[in-house]
Order: sequence, then structure tokens, then C-alpha cells
Amino acid sequence: MAERLIDTFGRAHTDLRISVTDRCNFRCAYCMPEEGMEWLDRGGILTYEEIERIAGILVREAGVTSIRLTGGEPTVRARLPLLVQRLSQLGVELSMTTNGATLPLIAADLRDAGLDRINISIDTLHRDRFYELTKRNELERVLDGITAAVHAGFDPVKLNVVPMRGINDDEILDFLQFGQDRGVTVRFIEFMPLDAQGQWSNERVVTAREILDTAASRFSFEPLTRGSSPAERFRFTDGSGEFGVIASVTEPFCEACDRMRLTADGQLRNCLFALGHTDLRSLLRSGASDDEILEAIRSEVKKKWAGHAINQVHFIRPTKSMSQLGG
Ligand code: SAM
Ligand code: SF4
Repeated sequence: MAERLIDTFGRAHTDLRISVTDRCNFRCAYCMPEEGMEWLDRGGILTYEEIERIAGILVREAGVTSIRLTGGEPTVRARLPLLVQRLSQLGVELSMTTNGATLPLIAADLRDAGLDRINISIDTLHRDRFYELTKRNELERVLDGITAAVHAGFDPVKLNVVPMRGINDDEILDFLQFGQDRGVTVRFIEFMPLDAQGQWSNERVVTAREILDTAASRFSFEPLTRGSSPAERFRFTDGSGEFGVIASVTEPFCEACDRMRLTADGQLRNCLFALGHTDLRSLLRSGASDDEILEAIRSEVKKKWAGHAINQVHFIRPTKSMSQLGG
């Protein structure tokens, strides 16, 4: 049996997030600057063969059981269903986080290629606000993307919503209603200090507690067993589905974290907030063996710290933005 990736705090790492590109067709203010983002050059981005090799080592030799494709925007990478089809051969749970705008075109292809689960990010249901937040007039396409994902058979389709005070925090009830009407699961994620523009502040964070209080003003719901998921899950008592809240800032789930991240240029990072990384691309391109790559991965995981300490004085904000790290 594969020897699992255990860090010094005893956490087994079974979840790999792969950023397939740092590029994106949107410019969400909380994630990347509107102008002046320097993209990786194409030769610097891992090829599908390189991604497949690292994923294969992690699944076969280290007990990884789930892989999530993210970015930047994963669907802007050419022939994405091909990568999905290759990774689906590994027999893991394969999922993707996307802004949804390309899904009207490729949701069915992704499903046919073996993608198991999909999360679509959407932070407002108002057209003008959508433009303000993403600098793109694409709300209709994202809504069509949600419909396309449901029609392609993804079940449940999950929506990632980041409420920000004074920006979209008046839409919590509308999103819950939308989730019920469309048969999709809304997950509210606390705003994290990873925005490239440095606009984050504690005051902007709409906390999980506030989200639940707002939800309770109109809906009746009860908690579901949490399991290993970072999302606290709730079911509507009238049977009309469920929703989730991810309290990454106010109630960090670091002690149960089982995630590693591979950036588009092949850096393995043991935490979203990690200040260092291991350069797997150089290893791959200098002819390293699978054992050497696995050893480098094990040593990166061993270096993982106890938690991100966002609310403590010694917290150091990473210089990379969410779009470069993968959500
Ligand atoms: N482009 C894809 C998308 O938007 O879904 C995938 C990459 S995006 C970086 C992954 C997730 O990170 C999205 O759900 C997005 O809402 C979330 N995200 C980005 N910046 C964030 C921040 N500062 N705090 C919390 N979540 C953030
Ligand atoms: Fe792009 Fe996703 Fe970041 Fe928005 S959140 S800028 S869609 S990577």
C-alpha cells in the first residue's frame, strides 16, 4: 500500500489542487489586479504530460484520492477535456473550480471526459455589480454555464460565493433562494487576504456567523454532519436542498487540512499562505526519477506549518494572489 504523505502534525495529505494556468478571462478585484498582471510564459507552464506524471506519482505512491483543477481560469487552457480524460484514468475523485463562463461550450465535454464534480464561482446576481466585480459583462454566460453544468449531469453543482461587506453582502438571501430554485448548492466562503490589490481588511470579511444569522432570518435549516470537508453544511428543513459556509478566516480548518497545491509553473506549495515552495518543474525537466520527485514532495509536506494565523500579529501576507495559487 502507498505510504501516505504525513506532515509533522500527523495530517495525511490526500487532496491535490492543480492550477492548470495562471491566466484568466475575468479580473475579479479580490483575486488579481485589473491591469499589469504578468503571465507566466507558455514554456514555463507544466505540460499535460508533466501534470499527469506528478499526479500519477501522488496517486500511486502517496495515497492521494482527490484532485481539483483550478487556476487562474482552468477552462482557458486549450483542450482541457483531454487533461480531464487523462487524469480520470487515475481513479480519483476529479473536480474543478471555474468561473463558469466557458461552460455553455464545454460542460458536456468535461463530464464525458470523466470530471466528477464542479464548483462555479459567482459573487453577484446583478449585472452592473457583476461588471464592477469581474470587469467583464458575462453574468448571462455564467448563468447559462450553471444551467449547462446541471444539464451535463453534474450533481450537485456547487456555487462558490465570497460575500464582502459593503459590496455584495446584501445578496446572501437571494443566493440561497437562487440555490433552491436552480437545484444547486451554494457555499459561502469568507473573504481571505489573498487579493492582489491589497483591498482585504478584517472589516470587509462577512463572517460565517453573520452569514448564518442572515440565512436564519428567512430560511429554516439544520446542520449536517461535517466530515472532513472545510464547509459547514446545512440542509433546508423543507427538503429543498442544502448550503454550506466555509469559515476560512474566523474558524480556520487548518488542523484538518489535507491539501497540497501545484501551481501552473510546477511549484508545490503546502498551504495557500505558504511563503516557500518546492520547484517540481526543475526536477521534472532535469530528468529526475519518480522516486526523487516523490522524495521532494514528501519533504515539502513535512515542512507544513500548523496553521495560517491570519488573525495573529505574526501573519505574513503571501506575495502571490489567489489567481496564481489556485483557490
Ligand atoms: N477561476 C476559477 C474561479 O473563479 O472559480 C478558479 C480559480 S479562483 C482563484 C478559485 C476560487 O477562489 C474562486 O471560488 C474564488 O471565488 C476564490 N477566491 C479568489 N480570491 C479570493 C479571496 N481573496 N478570498 C476568498 N476566496 C477567493
Ligand atoms: Fe479569474 Fe477566478 Fe480569480 Fe476571478 S476568482 S480573477 S475568475 S481566477
